[in-house]
Amino acid sequence: MNSFSGKKVLVIGGSRGIGAAIVRRFTSAGATVVFTYSASQEAADAVAKQTGARAARVDSADRDAVIEFVASCGPLDVLVVNAGVVVFGDPATIATDAVDRLFTVNIHSPYFAAVEASKRMPDYGRILIIGSANGDTVPFVGLTAYAMSKSAVQGLARGLARDLGPRGITVNVIQPGPTDTDMNPAGGPMEQMMLAGLSIKRYGKAEEIAAMALFLAGPEAGYVTGSIQSMDGGMSG
Ligand code: NDP
Repeated sequence: MNSFSGKKVLVIGGSRGIGAAIVRRFTSAGATVVFTYSASQEAADAVAKQTGARAARVDSADRDAVIEFVASCGPLDVLVVNAGVVVFGDPATIATDAVDRLFTVNIHSPYFAAVEASKRMPDYGRILIIGSANGDTVPFVGLTAYAMSKSAVQGLARGLARDLGPRGITVNVIQPGPTDTDMNPAGGPMEQMMLAGLSIKRYGKAEEIAAMALFLAGPEAGYVTGSIQSMDGGMSG
């Protein structure tokens, strides 16, 4: 496993699910990790206690708070923007405020966090955004706003990869498929619908996504940038 000893990592949204697995993986590899959360204080405290990472309550829906917090972290070797929300529903009736919030958390926050981090990031730093297979494919109704937000971060990675390439900084998106977390629990009412379009007929594990994050943040991935890495059991294949 790559060693991240001496490296500073910020995970936006690290209290639960995929983000918590990423915090665990980077701390196990020796990194100094800070992570944010917005609501799940108990879960955040547990992850912090278990891993030695530092937790900070910063709502990704608050643009200025995100920018201020990223700036306060100083130079980061790795930024992972994981926090995301999903709102299902008929676009004709879905609450407009919920859609606005989704766009703020899933699109605006990755943009502002990545840009702010890039200002202080040393050469050869790494920026990772957790997107979704729904950035490429929308297998059922009710996902328009979510899918739109996850397509948007593809453009963020492709654009910022160009802007930061001269400094050797890479910017990539990981696109999970159905992954067993609070957001999308295996065994839940959506399971059959989720598995229908997959080649590998099971839910993904948060630890699998974290392993890809560690690889992309490591020295062997220095030539991977502006890329969209699917880890979705074949959903988008
Ligand atoms: P969970 O809902 O299980 O966890 C979400 C994490 O993000 C929590 O730590 C949560 O912290 C944090 N978060 C959410 N909103 C905010 C906010 N406003 N400010 C700060 N932190 C926030 O989700 P997953 O682990 O399943 O998803 C993680 C990412 O992976 C998301 O971007 C999601 O879209 C994506 N994804 C997930 C898939 C799945 O099947 N699970 C499939 C494809 C993509 P808190 O509770 O404290 O708010």
